[in-house]
Amino acid sequence: MSRAVLSTSSKLSGVSYSLRGPLAARAESMRAEGRSVVSMNVGDPVAHGLPPRPEVVRAMRDGIDRSAAYGPARGLPDAREAVAGHYRGKGFDTVEAEDVYLGNGVSELAASTLHALLEPQDEVLIPAPDYPMWTASTVLAGGRPVHYPCDETSGWLPDPVALRDRITARTRAIVAINPNNPTGSVWPRPVVDAIAALARRHGLLLLADEIYDDFLYDGALHSPLATCAPDTPCVTFGGLSKRSRVPGFRMGWAVLTGPRAARATLATALDTVTSLRLCPNVPAQRVVPTALRVDDTKDLTGPGGAFRHRRDHLLRALAGIPGIHCVKPGGAFYAFPRIDVRRYRVDGDALAGGLLREEGLLVVPGAGLGPVPPGHLRMVTMPPCDVIDDVAERLARFLERHDSR
Ligand code: PLP
Repeated sequence: MSRAVLSTSSKLSGVSYSLRGPLAARAESMRAEGRSVVSMNVGDPVAHGLPPRPEVVRAMRDGIDRSAAYGPARGLPDAREAVAGHYRGKGFDTVEAEDVYLGNGVSELAASTLHALLEPQDEVLIPAPDYPMWTASTVLAGGRPVHYPCDETSGWLPDPVALRDRITARTRAIVAINPNNPTGSVWPRPVVDAIAALARRHGLLLLADEIYDDFLYDGALHSPLATCAPDTPCVTFGGLSKRSRVPGFRMGWAVLTGPRAARATLATALDTVTSLRLCPNVPAQRVVPTALRVDDTKDLTGPGGAFRHRRDHLLRALAGIPGIHCVKPGGAFYAFPRIDVRRYRVDGDALAGGLLREEGLLVVPGAGLGPVPPGHLRMVTMPPCDVIDDVAERLARFLERHDSR
């Protein structure tokens, strides 16, 4: 019998997803040992007591009887038409069902698009801090992620000049995540226009991850990248995971806009890549028309809404802990606070690992989210207020223990 250890692909070197990395595994073992662990790492509303609307679950149940067969590779026509209509309502004037690809979440469609687009070592511009799926999927598709900075002092907005300076002959695409994960920043129209202008000037594909487009607080306005760049090929990503609170259903979409002739080859390549997974999950596609019709995201993020109330509660709790600074997130459901590392002398693994080991608090270390200044943590803003109070106590206790003053 051979004892050779299987080798695995070098394509995976540099590929990781810090949101579910070793810290999350350690948290699971701690739980199994009976320790109390509070998870603030994964952006799943259901896990924080915000279940989907009953109509959405019922649509899945009702659709199952008709869903045993494979469906079309791009997705079911009526679900694609519902997505197209949803985006026409957002100012994507020319979008039709044929421009919509359905997939098993944004994650799958992002990977498919990068596979369809990239030659080895082609560069993709990705915001830092990043949502690590984009960086990892770029590497796995053979490309090279190049991070462009978003600056904390400007409310975590990208600097278009720094973005421009990173464009090379190998650059193929710009990823924009707006509203942003992990910072919660909502990029104003002039910033979005500047990104569109760079893509136009340099012939780059725009990849707009706008899965949080209706998660907006305090009157923040979202400027969809595609509407700022109608003359430029753009793929807008969205889905049901967050807005309909069904991340387990695995249903997302990619919407192609810009001149049809310019994006025809991308559509063909995307057809080839998506055909390899045969079709998206069929019962989940049956949910799309209902889910978009009964969408309550705006209510839940408006005054008195649960997402907004809980975000405000977390921000107040963080503000009460000395040595923590947090830019107010204007969208999505994440906060990206900074610990004063000169005072507390803990960062990276020591900070996030220490919080888990000593206090049973699971957060994402900023260092797992691309090149980021020291001392940052990502946490979700949507747990119930009593959980947030518990989190704040654990955090405060930990910092007190590590206070150098
Ligand atoms: N894009 C962003 C910015 C996200 O935060 C997430 C999930 O947290 C995703 C994409 C993945 O979405 P999906 O569940 O549709 O794969």
